[in-house]
Amino acid sequence: MKGAVFYKKGDLRVEDIEIRKPKSYEVTLKVEYCGVCGTDKHILAGAEGAGYTPPGTVLGHEFSGIITEVGENVKGIAVGDRVCVDPNDMCGKCYYCKQGIGHFCEDMIGIGTTVNGGFAEFCTVNAKQVYKIPDSLSLKEAAMAEPVACCLHGMDLINMRAGQTVMIIGGGTIGMIMLQLAKASGASTLIMIEPVESKRKMASKFGADITIDPFNDRIEEALAKAGVKQIDTTIECVGLVKTMNMAIDFTGKGGTAMLFGLTEPDSEMIIKPFDLFKREITVKASYINPYTQMRAINLLSSGIVDVNSLITDIVGLDNINDVFMTDKYKNSGKILIKP
Ligand SMILES: [Zn+2]
Ligand SMILES: [Zn+2]
Repeated sequence: MKGAVFYKKGDLRVEDIEIRKPKSYEVTLKVEYCGVCGTDKHILAGAEGAGYTPPGTVLGHEFSGIITEVGENVKGIAVGDRVCVDPNDMCGKCYYCKQGIGHFCEDMIGIGTTVNGGFAEFCTVNAKQVYKIPDSLSLKEAAMAEPVACCLHGMDLINMRAGQTVMIIGGGTIGMIMLQLAKASGASTLIMIEPVESKRKMASKFGADITIDPFNDRIEEALAKAGVKQIDTTIECVGLVKTMNMAIDFTGKGGTAMLFGLTEPDSEMIIKPFDLFKREITVKASYINPYTQMRAINLLSSGIVDVNSLITDIVGLDNINDVFMTDKYKNSGKILIKP
């Protein structure tokens, strides 16, 4: 079969590799769609993602497919089942797993980051990592379950309450998912800060009440004009220090700033504790997708979260390097690889 193998910084090769036979507790799936994620770009740029990626690994961790083979001890999953994969395989035995915070697992297997993943025609994974999907969910949408699950964990950590005013900074794929989750959680006023007009339009379609262009509008003025007294929750979805600072600055009294975007590992920011004290604000971060994959599937299949309009390109596996090594898809939204 063909797979996109990571060798080193800037070196991803589509090669012929062997389909690994499933062990007794594993399943093999024919990959239908696999999302391109910022983490893949980080790995190929030579930076570490959530962990170390050994050379020789097939990348791709946001994927769906159809089961083609099951190990002898696998129950409840059969050949032909439509599934998506939670790529973060926790050991279940270490200190953190036993504390119920398994996303900090000391022995985490990252499918598509530490072992072979979904940028390939087939992938063999631990059966406990696959989720059967309902008929109402397309395999294309199901490939988005992992990013939705990551956002959902972020939302869980905010303890947002219905009737609050929520500001999202950044209208990329993650920002648009967050916007929909905040809406579903009962945000009564939703604000999107995004410089690109088409993205602001999409945000309005997804339920943003106020959209602001940070490059050409004065945010404070726009908020005052719209009658916004204060922001209760701010969710940063860009990953820059500048926008992280903005998230903290705009969070109102007693509110929460969720710094969700991924910065460069060595980025630093200045926080004035007195400023946090005066407003009694909480600053939160969120790491991967513990125990949220099932609810992500439910939100997608019920139509509460729409990802179809976020997917802008489907690219064949043979052309995967166009995505990572050229500017061809620079202005794209979410890209899915179709092996
Ligand atoms: Zn990802
Ligand atoms: Zn563990």
